[in-house]
Amino acid sequence: MKGKIIVSRFWTNIFSGRKAVAIVIFPFIFLLDRRYRHDKYLLNHENIHIRQAAEMLVVPFYIWYGVEFLLRYLQYKKFRQAYLNISFEREAYRNEKNLHYLKNRRFWAFRKYF
Ligand SMILES: [Zn+2]
Repeated sequence: MKGKIIVSRFWTNIFSGRKAVAIVIFPFIFLLDRRYRHDKYLLNHENIHIRQAAEMLVVPFYIWYGVEFLLRYLQYKKFRQAYLNISFEREAYRNEKNLHYLKNRRFWAFRKYF
């Protein structure tokens, strides 16, 4: 499945703490501005998160995302480093430019990025 896109500066800022141009609130992808509708790598990145969330039955995905962020923050002591090294983000960033990635991706593939 793909996320349903909602363009909203207001809600994207609220959900991301003004730190992102896009955020997945399953099953939706919130975008800061409609020009990001054409950013295929960004949308691929967000759809990787949609798949991760679906596979974890959504709520555990957000819990684990938060827990792993805290673990990474203890490890790196920097907000952005912690975020970039969450397994879900490592998988999404490493594969966002491969537009066929989701067709071939294995179940729970984020595990190997831990
Ligand atoms: Zn991401």
